[in-house]
Amino acid sequence: MKTFFIQTLGCKVNQYESDGIASGLEERGWTKGEKNADVVIVNTCAVTSRAAMQSRQAIRKIIRENPEAKVIVTGCHAQTDPEAIKKIDHIDHLVCHQDKLKIADHLTSTGVDPFSLRFRKIDRTESDPFKGFNHAVKGDMTRAYLKIQDGCNAFCTYCIVPHARGASVSMPENEVLRHLRELGASGVNEVIVTGIHAGMYGLDFKEKSSLLELLTRIDRDRPVYRLRLSSIEPCEINEGIIRLAGPGHILCDHFHIPLQSGDDGILRKMKRPYDRFFFKDMVQMIHEILPFAGIGVDTLIGFPTETDRQFENTYELIESLPISYLHVFPFSARKGTPAYHFDPKVDEKTIKDRCAGMRTLDKIKRREFVGRNLNQKQEGLVQNKPDKKTGMLKAITSNYLTVLLKGGPELCGKILDLVPEQWDKDLIIKGRISE
Ligand code: SF4
Repeated sequence: MKTFFIQTLGCKVNQYESDGIASGLEERGWTKGEKNADVVIVNTCAVTSRAAMQSRQAIRKIIRENPEAKVIVTGCHAQTDPEAIKKIDHIDHLVCHQDKLKIADHLTSTGVDPFSLRFRKIDRTESDPFKGFNHAVKGDMTRAYLKIQDGCNAFCTYCIVPHARGASVSMPENEVLRHLRELGASGVNEVIVTGIHAGMYGLDFKEKSSLLELLTRIDRDRPVYRLRLSSIEPCEINEGIIRLAGPGHILCDHFHIPLQSGDDGILRKMKRPYDRFFFKDMVQMIHEILPFAGIGVDTLIGFPTETDRQFENTYELIESLPISYLHVFPFSARKGTPAYHFDPKVDEKTIKDRCAGMRTLDKIKRREFVGRNLNQKQEGLVQNKPDKKTGMLKAITSNYLTVLLKGGPELCGKILDLVPEQWDKDLIIKGRISE
């Protein structure tokens, strides 16, 4: 029996794709094994220069630990900088994004050249990024991912992703429903809907559709208990989508929104299609309709030319809004993007200090949000793995709080009513199961 090991870097879309490759190999009789695998696959990330560097480190480490294995490298870093990858010795195959999903097929085919995938530039007219996975991808977690869209047409000036993944393409609506039904039937209670730019869902169809239309249909059909959007751009949230996260509907009341900057001048330079007032109105609309919704925000700090005042504009905007948590990313110039050439650059120390300020704000926001949720009855999905430190059950609420509970393993994977009751300085929340 052949064994494989996959190491994944980067986003949920990459994780979903790795899980899909893994289940393809398992369906064909291969088994997962961390050490001395016959084949190792590294699914790389390029979103920041740090992620690219970590991808190369991961490849080197995996080669050291599996000297006999066939080594396959794929993912965004492989796609955007194949020359950097090729400098690493002992890589057997570099696989481009559109062939990623065929890896299992190629590894198990019996032809003369079992691995004839050509590495080439991304071309979405050439293959369907949803064809590779015939079955829903369940992964190893309690909650499953489903990629409904890939690629991006936005070309924000700092972002390498459209160069890695090509134009936006969407999974046909019937396929989305089929995958969700399969997941629901196999006992999955929550599916996280992912995409590189999920708000573009359906715009590439001959008869255009939209994310709202898709979600409305899923809400009507109820193939799974609940659905979470992994991320949505500010301009693509609308009242219809927000209302689908209201009581009795399928969507979790949790929105993760890439703001990047709260300064209009920087937003223009980033080529982001909104301004701070638009963002403010949108967050306030979510809060008015769903007062307990979790609202997470991505920020990109230290974009070239960002002044102290412009950074403060971002800080003050977030401070003034009912946001529950932040993801703080330092700007990292990506070769091949316009912002790589923008000057003056913000020096590293300033970026570091601004990020530290933003992370302090993140803690304040998290505390405020947890405080607002204490003693509020909520629904939580109990995760299959208990909390490592306390051994208690870990439940994730619809608005994205993690609450520790007392209870036995028979509750894993179940949706329960719970009440968050107390939290400590590290924001560990403990609660009780509600009658
Ligand atoms: S919307 Fe902008 S940041 Fe997001 S993937 Fe597309 S180009 Fe990148």
